[in-house]
Amino acid sequence: MKVIIADDSKVMRNIIQNAMRPMGTEIIQAGSGQEVFEQLEIHGGKVGAIFMDWNMPGMTGLECLKLLKKNEKYKDIPVLMISTESEDDKVSIAREAGAKGYLTKPFTNEELIKFINSSI
Ligand SMILES: [Mg+2]
Repeated sequence: MKVIIADDSKVMRNIIQNAMRPMGTEIIQAGSGQEVFEQLEIHGGKVGAIFMDWNMPGMTGLECLKLLKKNEKYKDIPVLMISTESEDDKVSIAREAGAKGYLTKPFTNEELIKFINSSI
């Protein structure tokens, strides 16, 4: 299975990638919402989940999530939102938009692995 990590911070992408390394998952990094769609075009139906940062310049993670859910080809891919926003309304907005999970930054490696295991 392939997983896309979408975050405008390369440091954050690498943190998540390193945490997932023992799982043997192929990681695809995307620096923007636009890149998520570019990578999906390349990797097609082999993408099993998308980790999505909420705050990204240009297309936000929430906007990207909404576009994915409107797209026949991609609407069934689980999207896991990762954000510094922890207010309950943000969590419910993400859920209503179709996010499968929600993790708040900062998180420990343990929390991240638990989140991954329970989400995909
Ligand atoms: Mg960000």
